[in-house]
Amino acid sequence: DMMSDPTRSGLLLSARGLTKNYGKERAVDSVDLDVPERAFTTFLGPSGCGKTTILRMIAGFETPDAGSIVLDGRSLSGVPPERRPVNTVFQSYALFPHLTVFGNVAFSLTLRRHSNVDVAARVKRALDAVHMAEFGDRYPHQLSGGQQQRVAVARAIIAEPHLLLLDEPLSALDKKMRGHLQIELKDLQRRLGIAFVYVTHDQDEAFALSDIVVIMNKGRIIQKAAPLTIYARPANAFVADFIGAATLIPGEIANNGGVSGSAAIDTAIGIVQCPAVEGLVKGDKAVLAIRPEHVRIGADGLNTTIRHVVFKGDRYLVEAEVKGVILRFMADSPPAPGADVGLVVDRDRAFITRID
Ligand code: ATP
Repeated sequence: DMMSDPTRSGLLLSARGLTKNYGKERAVDSVDLDVPERAFTTFLGPSGCGKTTILRMIAGFETPDAGSIVLDGRSLSGVPPERRPVNTVFQSYALFPHLTVFGNVAFSLTLRRHSNVDVAARVKRALDAVHMAEFGDRYPHQLSGGQQQRVAVARAIIAEPHLLLLDEPLSALDKKMRGHLQIELKDLQRRLGIAFVYVTHDQDEAFALSDIVVIMNKGRIIQKAAPLTIYARPANAFVADFIGAATLIPGEIANNGGVSGSAAIDTAIGIVQCPAVEGLVKGDKAVLAIRPEHVRIGADGLNTTIRHVVFKGDRYLVEAEVKGVILRFMADSPPAPGADVGLVVDRDRAFITRID
C-alpha cells in the first residue's frame, strides 16, 4: 500500500554526485540522495560530517561545486532560495523580535500580497497545527524556547512547501521539551503529508522520528536505511560504533557461509560463531559486534572480571573484562566490582560487520 508506507511513494528530491569544497576541505563528497514524498528522512552523523552543508545546498544557501539536485522533476541549478518550494527551520529560532507571533508567521505571506482575510485564516491554521493558536499576540521574548520553535515551524509551513528542511531544530531545548516536540513534529509531518529532511547528531532522535536514516561520515553517506535495519544490520564498524549499540571486537574471519550457513570470527576472546555475513571470506579482517542485551551471566560462559557497575534506573549496566576486551550487559542486581563471573554470549545474536 503506497499511501501507508512513505518510503515507497514517489520520489520528491533526487541529488546526484553532490560535492562541496571549502578551500582544500571536501565538506560533501559525491553524495547521491533520493528523498521520497511524504517521508521523514534524517541525516545523522558526527559534528562536521557535512549534514548542514547538504541541507544548505538543497535550500539554495550554498552552491554545489559539482552534482545536481532535482526537486519535483525540476533542476534547482541557478534557482534562488526564495524561488525553491522548500523552507528551513534552524536551530536558533530566528524569529523577528519586533513582530508578534502572528506577524512572524504571516511575514512571508504579506510579502506575497495575499488578502488580509486569506492571511488570517492561513496563520490560524499554521498556529493550530503547532498548538500555538492562543499565542498570536505575544512577542518572541514572551515565549519559552519550545514555543518559539513551534512558531518557527508554523512560519516555515505556512507557504506550504513541498519539502521542509530542519537543521537541529530541537538541540537548544532541554531534554523534556525536546521529547515533547519530537512527538509533535512527527505527528505534524504525518498530518501535513509533506517530506521532512532533518539533521541531527542525536541518534535517539533520528531513530524516533525517521522513516529513513542517512548515516554520514567525512562528507560521505555510509548507510541509508530504516532505523530498524540500521540498528539490526549496521553496514560497518563506524555505524555500529556511532549508534553505540554494541561492543566491537576486531578479528579475522575463520569461515563464512558454506554448508553450515553460519560464520566464525577469530578474536581476542576466542572463535565466536555468528550468522553468516555477505561478502566476507576466510582471512578477511572484520569486527564482531555484541549487544548488551545478548550477554548474560552463566557459569559455562567466558571467564570475565567485573570492572564497572552503573545504576540505570531500572537495571544496572555492567562492564566486564575478558582478555583486554570490555563486554557490556544489563543486570537486574549489581555484581560486585572485581568479582569473576561467567558470561554467555547469545551466538545467534552476535554479528559480524565490516571494518569499512
Ligand atoms: P555539525 O553537526 O557540527 O553542525 P555538520 O555535519 O552539519 O556538523 P557541516 O556544517 O556541514 O557539518 O560542515 C562540514 C565541514 O565543512 C566542516 O568541516 C566545516 O568546518 C566545514 N564548513 C562548513 N561551512 C563552512 C564554511 N562556510 N567555510 C568553511 N568551512 C566550512
